[in-house]
Amino acid sequence: MSMQRREFLKAMGAGVSAAALSACAVSPSRSGPKVVVVGGGYGGATVAKYLDMWSNGSLDITLVEPNAAFVSCPLSNLVLGGSKQIADLTVSYDGLAKRGVRVIAETATVVDPLRQTVRIRDQRELPYDRLVLSPGIDFMYEQVPGLGSPEAQAKVLHAWKAGPQTVALRQQLEAMRDGGVFVISIPKAPYRCPPGPYERACQVAWYFKRAKPRSKVLILDGNEDVVSKKGLFMKAWNEDYKGIVEYRPNYVLTGVDASTLTARFEVQENVKADVLNVIPPQRANDIAGQAGVITANNRWCEVDFLSFESIKVPKIHVLGDAIQIAPLMPKSGHMANQHAKVAAAAILNAFAGQAPNPTPVINNTCYSFITDRDVVHVCSVHQYDKEKKTLVTVPGSGGLSPGPTALEGEYAFSWAKNIWADMLT
Ligand SMILES: Cc1cc2nc3c(=O)[nH]c(=O)nc-3n(C[C@H](O)[C@H](O)[C@H](O)COP(=O)(O)OP(=O)(O)OC[C@H]3O[C@@H](n4cnc5c(N)ncnc54)[C@H](O)[C@@H]3O)c2cc1C
Repeated sequence: MSMQRREFLKAMGAGVSAAALSACAVSPSRSGPKVVVVGGGYGGATVAKYLDMWSNGSLDITLVEPNAAFVSCPLSNLVLGGSKQIADLTVSYDGLAKRGVRVIAETATVVDPLRQTVRIRDQRELPYDRLVLSPGIDFMYEQVPGLGSPEAQAKVLHAWKAGPQTVALRQQLEAMRDGGVFVISIPKAPYRCPPGPYERACQVAWYFKRAKPRSKVLILDGNEDVVSKKGLFMKAWNEDYKGIVEYRPNYVLTGVDASTLTARFEVQENVKADVLNVIPPQRANDIAGQAGVITANNRWCEVDFLSFESIKVPKIHVLGDAIQIAPLMPKSGHMANQHAKVAAAAILNAFAGQAPNPTPVINNTCYSFITDRDVVHVCSVHQYDKEKKTLVTVPGSGGLSPGPTALEGEYAFSWAKNIWADMLT
């Protein structure tokens, strides 16, 4: 047994007894190596939980997350449709705190990779042996002239981070006159959750059909075609939502006038909306840029897919939407949860002086709600390819629903409950 491994196992043992002694404490101080996790979303909460569980509670884990509770983007389109409330998608961080993860309700502001510290907004410095960043996305407002100011952003909402914007967009829909037009602008891929905008169109149409039947949903897509579950969404728009939803491809947004709710495009005429929902182009969140781990197109963080460690900055792992994805890998919550498990195992191996698992296999499932209960899914399996040094989809794996069903609706709600429990308890 190597020296490093022996020392690590000793530290693990010491940590276990410390954890057992202070089972009731919310933030026991633990003697094992220190891991700081930035971001308590799908990637960050999962990695904190699994590092804790797989080390038998011996690591000293700190989760930095400004929000008081986790709010899920998956299912948040149902809040726009009106069949769910934001409280239905909100889960406390208490489960992680009870495990002994130190949860700090703050924003990380500065990463110093040389000193191996993270500074948080209240100026405290958190030392780390390994840092995990799962901070999600930020919006590239500079690419949407007219949407730079807080006033414009308060009128033209994205609702692409679940929370106050989701509730505010629902209020705009409720306040809209019957006969009005809801316009949703979709950025060019890659963006967070490929099927999400199309699911949103279905949910708003579901609401209009019942509450404001003369209203329309106009999808203005910056892509050449529907980028996910095309046949299933088209069928829904041409059948269930015929006369309500209109889909137009190749609508590349070049700016907005927030005061008149008008959107401008590269080629086509301006479009005026009653409710304008712009999903701006996206990149890895600011803290990733500050940490120096954004390496692809000034937008995303390239990682070693065996460990999710940055290809540029050692001992910093990046998960979730912030990474430069492998081919055909969606930016999804399910995927972020899977990244987190590969990273947690690799970090524990590194502390034990071992190489990461050379053959990780991960999977994805994405459900989309066509109505309040009829659902479709897409799924895929991704395996590490030694030669290509990336994750590739396993031939013949995965698939797509033949059509929406209420049974899949039950599966989708179970998926959400299970993944939230997996991350947060
Ligand atoms: C409408 C919609 C529907 C979706 N539906 C699905 C679905 O059905 N299935 C699915 O799998 N995925 C879905 N997604 C995608 C999914 O939400 C994302 O892929 C997932 O949230 C990515 O996880 P993450 O950890 O990268 O980021 P997030 O889950 O966004 O977590 C990032 C966290 O980091 C925090 N943070 C940011 N900066 C800092 C900082 N400096 N310091 C501390 N904390 C910070 C944020 O507050 C946030 O809590 C959907 C997304 C949307 C918008």
